[in-house]
This record gives sequence, structure tokens and C-alpha cells, in this order.
Amino acid sequence: MKREFAVIGLGRFGGSICRELSADGMDVLAIDLDEEKVNEYKNIAAHAVIADSTDEKVLKELGVRNIDHVIVAIGDNIQASILTTLMLVELGIKKITVKAQNDYHEKVLNKIGADEVVHPERDMGRRIAHSIISTNILDHLELSDDHSIVEVKAGKKMQGKTLMDLDIRAQYGCNIVAIKEADEKGINVSPMATQQIDQDDILIVIGSDKDITRFEKQLVVED
Ligand code: ATP
Repeated sequence: MKREFAVIGLGRFGGSICRELSADGMDVLAIDLDEEKVNEYKNIAAHAVIADSTDEKVLKELGVRNIDHVIVAIGDNIQASILTTLMLVELGIKKITVKAQNDYHEKVLNKIGADEVVHPERDMGRRIAHSIISTNILDHLELSDDHSIVEVKAGKKMQGKTLMDLDIRAQYGCNIVAIKEADEKGINVSPMATQQIDQDDILIVIGSDKDITRFEKQLVVED
């Protein structure tokens, strides 16, 4: 079933959300002040309109009230982002996701009732920093301040061993939740303890950052 979305602000971030949702068959109302941006999305989104989202009357006229999920992707103009979010909260929108520019912006958005605040530049910066620090960590997803899921390449020390042999949960406190096979044959979710690991398999590991680092240092990094 189609769900209705509105994306306010068609910069790189909002534009990309609008493209992906539309490509997945979702009904998207794309809104931007800038006529050029709106023209760019006329053939992509189900509806694209030039409008100032800080104008409550305009939001009402556009029927935003009836939309399930609104994404506010206004970047530089923090005041417009906050004002828009506040009006969406007052309109009783079921789910509001807002892109924050900085920590203060995030704090205010949370206070006024945004359901989800995202920080794409900061999060991507963190993920890239983790993969720069450790060449074995291919990707990193922060679950909380001290827990993560990482994608890590199995090293020589793991070649031919089973999960039971390595006893990772007991020895390192973290869990391997999936294994992507080296030759991209497939992904094995919730692997059995008897599953054998090949040197270049990619392991998806969940745990505390402390435990993941210990696991990586002792089992993954080559001597
Ligand atoms: P990105 O990094 O994702 O490109 P950005 O952080 O540079 O985005 P901006 O370019 O500042 O974000 O804003 C994104 C879009 O939001 C712009 O296209 C801008 O025209 C639009 N925008 C700003 N204020 C409003 C508003 N009040 N109503 C509707 N659209 C707005």
C-alpha cells in the first residue's frame, strides 16, 4: 500500500530522500521555496510545489495535515527548520523527521516534538572515521553512545575455524549476527555455531564498542 510522505527542502539530502521514496513507489509531496529545485523534482515526485513551509496557511492549503510522515530537510536556515517543525507538530502530523545542522539545533528539535532527528553529515563522518582508523572495519553503525554494529573482514587467525572454536560471545562479549561469504555467495543471518569462517568473509558484529575493539585487536588484526 502506498504511504504518503512530504519532503520539505530539496537540497542534496532531501532530494535524495525524495528520489528513493518515489523510486520505491511511495506517494511523495516535494516542497521547496526554490522554483528550479521544484522543477527538477516535477517528474520524480508524485507532486512538487513551490512553497514556503514557514507559512502555516500554505501548509494547511497543501493538505500536509493528512500526510503520514513529513521529512524536514531544510539545512542552513535553522530558523525556518525549527518554525516548520513546530507547525507540523501543531498540525498533529503522525511522524516528523528533521535533519539537524548541529547539536543545538538537534536539542531544540527534540524539545519541540520532532519524532526523529537525523544528523547525516555527522553520522557519515563518524562512520568514515572508524573505517579510516581501522582498515578491518568496513562499516560502522552506532546503536548508542557505547554500542555499535560493525562490518569486519575476518582475518587469517579465523580461517577454517567455526564460531564454536572461536567462542566469540564468551571470550569477547560480542555476537556475530551474520556472515557475508567471501565470494559473495550469500549472507548467512544468525549463523549456527558450527559455521566455518573463511579468511575473507565479512562478519557483522554487534556489541559494546569496548568489546568490539578487543575482538578486533585480538582476532582480526594481523600480527
Ligand atoms: P544539503 O546539504 O542536503 O544540500 P543544505 O544543508 O545545503 O542541504 P539547504 O540548501 O540550506 O540545505 O536547504 C535545503 C533546501 O531547503 C533548499 O533547496 C532551500 O531552498 C529549501 N528551503 C529553505 N527554506 C525553506 C522554506 N522555508 N520552505 C521550503 N523550502 C525551504
